[in-house]
Amino acid sequence: MIWAMQTRVVSILLALAAFTAAAVDNIEVYFSPKGGATEAIVKELNNARDEVLVAAYTFTSAPIAAALKEAHGRGVKVSAILDRSNETAKYSSATFLTNSGILTLIDSKHAIQHSKYMVIDRGVVITGSFNFSNAAEKSNAENLLVIRDRRLAEKYRENWNEHSKHATTYRGKSGVPPPTTKGKATKAGIVAPAR
Ligand SMILES: [Zn+2]
Repeated sequence: MIWAMQTRVVSILLALAAFTAAAVDNIEVYFSPKGGATEAIVKELNNARDEVLVAAYTFTSAPIAAALKEAHGRGVKVSAILDRSNETAKYSSATFLTNSGILTLIDSKHAIQHSKYMVIDRGVVITGSFNFSNAAEKSNAENLLVIRDRRLAEKYRENWNEHSKHATTYRGKSGVPPPTTKGKATKAGIVAPAR
């Protein structure tokens, strides 16, 4: 009787241990500098099939931008929300993204848009201190988590959607100038001055 109970307790503990291990198996961590974070992100993007949502502060990483462009090119719905500093930064992938046809939004509602994450195919969340930048890969101390969890991914999607509601479309440094009312009035309406 006691032996049977002990066996049962042991099997419950084993089951719990297996559950804990499985949960940890759903998470990978990468530490910069040079800990493989960029490579891990590119690998996940290469596996994307339906949707990639990006929130970024600094965005200068050429390999990550290229992987987003490639995903967009094979029909994955890629959209990005960036901090407003990307509009004026000397180096930013914002123009590259928008020129690639990726919906690129600027969120100016906050002091800074400091979130950095990606949600891939409603099932993978990539997040951490890691900016999508060369410095984060090569020079800084950073951490990056790759988490495979559909419920968590859904929370990140909701957050992305909330910010997208007040974000504005980035048109690129050499893109179409925003509409202006300083132009010459004609029968057709207001015409923006040439520039
Ligand atoms: Zn916002």
